[in-house]
Amino acid sequence: MINVEGLHKNFGDLHVLKGLDVEVQTGEVVVVIGPSGSGKSTFLRCLNLLEMPTQGRILFEGVDITSGTNDINQQRQKMGMVFQNFNLFPHLDVMGNITLAPIRLKGLSKESAEEKGMELLKRVGLEDKAHEYPSRLSGGQKQRIAIVRALAMNPDVMLFDEPTSALDPEMVGEVLDVMRLLASEGMTMVVVSHEMGFAREVGNRILFMDEGEILEENPPAQLFAQPEHPRLKDFLSKVL
Ligand code: ATP
Ligand code: MG
Repeated sequence: MINVEGLHKNFGDLHVLKGLDVEVQTGEVVVVIGPSGSGKSTFLRCLNLLEMPTQGRILFEGVDITSGTNDINQQRQKMGMVFQNFNLFPHLDVMGNITLAPIRLKGLSKESAEEKGMELLKRVGLEDKAHEYPSRLSGGQKQRIAIVRALAMNPDVMLFDEPTSALDPEMVGEVLDVMRLLASEGMTMVVVSHEMGFAREVGNRILFMDEGEILEENPPAQLFAQPEHPRLKDFLSKVL
């Protein structure tokens, strides 16, 4: 579904991504781990062109989205993104947050967007919050709403950048549960996470990034039990 070929990203003199080659298959859950500053967020942001690659190609469903000839907004609509800090619109209630993009970008009627929104809210157990404002929600609730907002666009892939790292520990579980549910339904997912338990349990494949390179890439059972690269061993000894 996604093919990344020779991806480089520079910020001025800073060479942040140094030639990544990554393939993500339909229905796969790929978890990206690695130390702070290794380029995980930059990699994820390049996947939907929130950052423009300096060099290399990204094919999404066979279309080269880096060529400049495609309508990137159209492609981006097929990729849902969830950030660490929720990024909900504070001036809209939950339903307003969820239905804004489907109405504006997909041309759905308010009624059908709200119907779909309510369905999704039920799935994450938050139908009673439809008319609440974000400031009155807990962190875990905000993040579940952010996930629903992304899902409301019917994306083909969901990108998560440390979706639980801004949450109080007791709220991490409810967000991971929603992600687990999505994975079990066959959603294609790329997840940057420090949740090694989740990575092990839900990930089909783990990518270990360090200093802008993927140093190791394996199914979780193998990656955690038999890490090969010294820097991965060192990283795991600190986080496990
Ligand atoms: P963390 O685990 O802390 O989130 P990360 O692996 O996600 O780290 P990135 O956010 O991708 O790391 O950052 C990689 C490097 O790129 C860092 O040195 C960072 O300072 C730099 N960087 C990221 N975004 C920009 C930007 N917009 N302009 C300049 N430098 C940037
Ligand atoms: Mg990051």
